[in-house]
Amino acid sequence: MSTKVLTRQLSRKKLDKPVKVAVAHGDGIGPEIMKATLRILDAAGANIEPEFIELGEKVYLSGNTSGINSRGWEAINNSKVIFKAPITTPQGKGYKSLNVTLRKSLGLFANVRPVTALYPYVPTNFPNMNLVIIRENEEDLYAGIEHRQTQDVYQCLKLITRPGCERIVRYAFEYAKAFGRKKVTCMVKDNIMKLTDGLFHQVFNEIALEYPEIRNDTQIIDIGSAKLAASPENYDVIVTPNLYGDIISDIAAEIGGSVGMCGSANIGKNVAMFEAIHGSAQDIEGKGIANPSGLINAAVSMLAHIGQSEIGDKIKNAWFTTLEQGYHTEDIYQEGRSIEKVGTQRFADKVIENLGQIPKSITKSILANGNGKIKIPEYIRKRQQKELVGVDVFLDWQGNDPNELGDALSKLNVYKLKLKMITNRGVKVYPKGLKETFCTDHWRCRFVGVDAKINSVEPRYAGIDFEQVVALLSTLFNLGCDIIKTENLYEFDGKRDFSLGQGE
Ligand code: NAD
Repeated sequence: MSTKVLTRQLSRKKLDKPVKVAVAHGDGIGPEIMKATLRILDAAGANIEPEFIELGEKVYLSGNTSGINSRGWEAINNSKVIFKAPITTPQGKGYKSLNVTLRKSLGLFANVRPVTALYPYVPTNFPNMNLVIIRENEEDLYAGIEHRQTQDVYQCLKLITRPGCERIVRYAFEYAKAFGRKKVTCMVKDNIMKLTDGLFHQVFNEIALEYPEIRNDTQIIDIGSAKLAASPENYDVIVTPNLYGDIISDIAAEIGGSVGMCGSANIGKNVAMFEAIHGSAQDIEGKGIANPSGLINAAVSMLAHIGQSEIGDKIKNAWFTTLEQGYHTEDIYQEGRSIEKVGTQRFADKVIENLGQIPKSITKSILANGNGKIKIPEYIRKRQQKELVGVDVFLDWQGNDPNELGDALSKLNVYKLKLKMITNRGVKVYPKGLKETFCTDHWRCRFVGVDAKINSVEPRYAGIDFEQVVALLSTLFNLGCDIIKTENLYEFDGKRDFSLGQGE
């Protein structure tokens, strides 16, 4: 590099204002690996200004059950970037998970976890594995809306929204574009959950059209996970709803041999949080042997996010070189392949020594060449005509014979509503149910307008008023029914947007 270019770069670096980052040392091995990583960032010339905040165990134990205090929130609000070592979640005292609190409060909608095999330095059966899982981070069953409804039945609501699907799917394609990835795979279970997972799949198909240069496909999550576990080298970017993403990202990290090595990014519109995927490893706390690689990788993602990917690349190359040279922490040490078992700080020293080196054999990894923030357009709601066409009334009924309940409710023809069917755990048990179907005390009774034509294959419903529903509920209550809840049935632009009962 010529002296002129170097001087220009140095003066630019001096002139650029450092990027503020809220840094949490965390618990257990957190402070040790954070110290090592910050030393590397400093030596590599990362232009950041850390503001240290307290998160986790100490804050919990001081009586703040959310694990974060007002100073922490303020620092996050100032910097919009969080760099966090793992924290300990005290068990059994009803403490909320701070990770979930941060993700949801700050709208960190995308969880991005790259997994790259580092064979032969880290043992794995899949030396060519190099993929990224982009998991939706806020919705799905993690909305945390759960209820007990009867003696037998508990419920958890799965919420999938159009804006949630649009931003995560677009993020996945934009990420692929920014990081030179070639294919995005969507994983869903829309053969069963046709509305919720169906929406995710539909949005994926819509947005994929805008990225013709990136290949795309969709797999059902069960066979998709099996294929991922058997041949991960066939995957590039995977985008998936929250629960599936939670599961497959751990599978991917495990089979990549690198649970202790992976970093993850939680990305929101205004704020982003970077961390290692492992926990606070109290069993090795204070021993100085923890592997800082997961946090180093998180730092590399953070640098790409704040537009300093050249520094990120430099660190990643130095990190690869250190692994190639055989300086390995205890968790990845292999007799015969490693040359020295190093502690946390010595490993960091070696990475610092190797800054500016290019690795010889680890070339397959995609470095931090995605520069700057990925922009997601504002969501624009397209309104559709919404019409009420019926109601599902859920009853807690302790009887056994669905015909007894069905015959009684069929006799009702109040307020121009009639019983269409009863299901138990989603299976139609009235009319004409099978006596083999196991029934609990949770009965969904579907009422529709008397004008509906319900005998055809795809029933045609008639619009009703909510007043009719209220009147029906009042009648049921006066008959002694134990109403657990109701769910309105809607058509949008004339299309049924509620599921049929199995066997309906
Ligand atoms: P863990 O990841 O802390 O430890 C699992 C095993 O991996 C342990 O044997 C540990 O010694 C080892 N290990 C983990 N990281 C290592 C590293 N960098 N170097 C060497 N060995 C490493 O998982 P856990 O024991 O289930 O959880 C401990 C605590 O961490 C819990 O309180 C949990 O809630 C918390 N946790 C926090 C986060 C986070 O803050 N993001 C994530 C997971 C777990």
